[in-house]
Order: sequence, then C-alpha cells, then structure tokens
Amino acid sequence: MALVKDITCVQAVRLIGDYLEGALSRRDRRRLEKHLAACEACSGYLEQMRATIALTGTVGPGDLSEDALDALMEVFDNFRREGESEA
Ligand SMILES: [Zn+2]
Repeated sequence: MALVKDITCVQAVRLIGDYLEGALSRRDRRRLEKHLAACEACSGYLEQMRATIALTGTVGPGDLSEDALDALMEVFDNFRREGESEA
C-alpha cells in the first residue's frame, strides 16, 4: 500500500462520503484527491461508492455500516499482504 503522509486511509474513507456529496472544503478535497491518487485501496473504494450511488441514487448520512467497514478492511489487508509478498 502506498504511504501517504497527509491523511490515513481511515480518514480518507470518512472524507469520501462528503466528497461525493460535494460537502468538502477545497483544502480537504485536495488532500483526499492526493491520497486517492496514491492509494489503490481508497480509490477502489471510491469507485465502489460511485457505483453504489449510481444504483441507489443516494449516499448514506456519512456513516459507514459495519459490513462496509469490514469489507474495506479486508481490501486493505489484501493490499498489505500483496505488498509484503513482493518485498
Ligand atoms: Zn488509502
């Protein structure tokens, strides 16, 4: 997984909901976009969210369900493992 100094993946995921609603400040949006550009896990999550919104037409109130978080952490674990096996 890419090392991103500005914000962590957990912070990025929290920002993505607001990002998709256009509720982020310009500064936060730039930080998030920087993270997304460097982090496959989070950009993949953003794509998933976009697909979900396309289907349901809505984003939740900004809270992730436990299931969604579990699924996300699994994705991050896989990325981490792939990185380790390469090292
Ligand atoms: Zn990330």
